[in-house]
Amino acid sequence: MRRGFLKNEYAKTVTAKPPTAPPQTKAKQTKKTVVKVPSESLHNAEDDAPIKLAMPEGDIASLNLNLVTLPMPNFLRPEPMSICLIWPIQKQKILALPGFPVRFVPPPRVLYEIKPIPGAGMGMVATQDIEVGDLIVRERPLIIMVQGIPYDKRHPEYARIQTEMPITALSEENRSAFYALHNCKGDKAPFPAAGIIDTNAIGIGALPGFENDCAAVCKDISRCNHSCSPNAVYHWHLQSFSEELRAIRPIAKGEEIVITYTPLRCPHRERQASLEQSYGFKCTCRICSLPAEESRRSDARRRLLVIASTKNKSGDDTELKAWIKDMNAPDNVIIERCKKMLDLMDQEGWYDENYWPVYFERIVKAYLALGDAENAKTWAEKAAALTIAFTGEDKGWSRVVAHPQDTEWWNLRTMAHSAEPLSPI
Ligand SMILES: [Zn+2]
Repeated sequence: MRRGFLKNEYAKTVTAKPPTAPPQTKAKQTKKTVVKVPSESLHNAEDDAPIKLAMPEGDIASLNLNLVTLPMPNFLRPEPMSICLIWPIQKQKILALPGFPVRFVPPPRVLYEIKPIPGAGMGMVATQDIEVGDLIVRERPLIIMVQGIPYDKRHPEYARIQTEMPITALSEENRSAFYALHNCKGDKAPFPAAGIIDTNAIGIGALPGFENDCAAVCKDISRCNHSCSPNAVYHWHLQSFSEELRAIRPIAKGEEIVITYTPLRCPHRERQASLEQSYGFKCTCRICSLPAEESRRSDARRRLLVIASTKNKSGDDTELKAWIKDMNAPDNVIIERCKKMLDLMDQEGWYDENYWPVYFERIVKAYLALGDAENAKTWAEKAAALTIAFTGEDKGWSRVVAHPQDTEWWNLRTMAHSAEPLSPI
């Protein structure tokens, strides 16, 4: 997901496109005796798609963005709410979601504080040790807006009026929190709110009813600084209408909690250029501070991970199935190769949701095929923690941990070996 993607969108051409159908709720899985090893890609390919600008179809009245409080106020159950500037069809579709909204439950423990970070303004710092997958923050954004506000170029003031509408509607406390956020654009921003949104907005993907992305500005998550070796990741949870921040690496008490603002698959020079252009700072994270030779090695590691990702796809079991049958292949050949790839990620402190799932998946399947329950469980637990960190759910990994012998991969290679006829002496 992107940060600050409202930039330069104000003057883009508007083209009409039909509204998208609401997302289909997946049918509940029927109970099976066989436990599946999760192989669902965590990555939404649309994240890399070019940003589109479109408007939902409808009559003129329906083309006015609506200022709406979501979830709707519930005086019997007061909860934080977000001020949203969205299309009317989106409001209808969101409110029509079955069970919406799921009750907002803040994390049981406060794991961080917002405090000054030398050379980086304010930031988020762990006040306790945090484990992989732990929920650090869950918050309803201050504001949510459709990405890029279309307007008639003959009336540029329209963008400012529309952009400031949700901010004006905030409570005094939340408005103060919004204007206290950093504005990396300074005087170059067309108006202060635009600069603050550009600096702090995080992508939440498309809301139901309209295909283009929305952006959210959060009181605390938007305070997270950048690192090319991030230890946390955020994701949007539609049903509770909240943004969640979770740890993707163990975070020690006193350590800064950092996310990424830019694609980390790019080499050092490109990352620096992107951050400089979009946010006006030079990254001094652990990876960007490496000496020149080590920095080149870091770039090479990242390039290798990118190339490998094109050949290793989640759910592609061709290699595993061939290995199961191949009596001459060493037992650990796939496991060791996948561990090497994960070791590259460890060295970089970079766990990209496009890359790590396939290696965990193959390691677990290989251990299962060897009948090694202990190692399969250990690696499935790690996969569960990371999957929770990126999605908020374990996607079925805990079932593998609990029932390795009930998976479809259990003992496959061992059985294939034992089924081999004995060689004549
Ligand atoms: Zn960096």
